[in-house]
Amino acid sequence: MACILVGAFVATANAAVLTIQPIKICDDGGLNCANDTEQTFLAETNKIWAQAGLTFSYLPFTTTNSSTFLSLDNQGEVDSLFTTAPGAAANPLVISMWFVANHFDAFGEVNTIGGNKIVIDEVIFGVNRLDTIAHEVGHLLGLMHDDPGVDVDFLMRSGSDRVTPSVIGDITPDGAGLDKLTAAQIKTALADPKVSAVPEPATSALILFGLGGLALARRRKMARV
Ligand SMILES: [Zn+2]
Repeated sequence: MACILVGAFVATANAAVLTIQPIKICDDGGLNCANDTEQTFLAETNKIWAQAGLTFSYLPFTTTNSSTFLSLDNQGEVDSLFTTAPGAAANPLVISMWFVANHFDAFGEVNTIGGNKIVIDEVIFGVNRLDTIAHEVGHLLGLMHDDPGVDVDFLMRSGSDRVTPSVIGDITPDGAGLDKLTAAQIKTALADPKVSAVPEPATSALILFGLGGLALARRRKMARV
């Protein structure tokens, strides 16, 4: 019976984690880096993806120097950034996220649905676009725009008409209930190989406690014998 209980703890101990390598692009001289204050809207992104039990883990920021990529003026330059991928994470299961000073027509873009590369225009921090990173990551986890049941208060609605949160309190399940995900989207996202399951420290403590309890029970039993 005790073994079954411990097994149950292990089954619920996994947290889904997505690892991101953030990369600031600077000019050719290593100056004027995009997002030099290293913002990520991490709290907002984690709150949105908490619907799926998914948390984000950022590796330390790195930099790469390219005046061309610092300002992406056309689709050719965006494609070239994704193809050459300067400073990209060696592990393909880690998302590489480049920050630029300008993207010619979007707040953010991914290399492909289900891919592992994102470019983010630092303007999102100036205009308080809290859910852009969460939205782009959704694309990398296999989600497309406007799946069935997706209204303007859902994360994967196109940026052209999505209602975006002004403060973290607007994000579901609170306030305006924005940036929702459907059950089908959550299932798709969690099936992506970039999502890894790791034991949560708090639950690991529970497992240890459970094992300790078992040992204690055994000792008591022996003492009775
Ligand atoms: Zn999109």
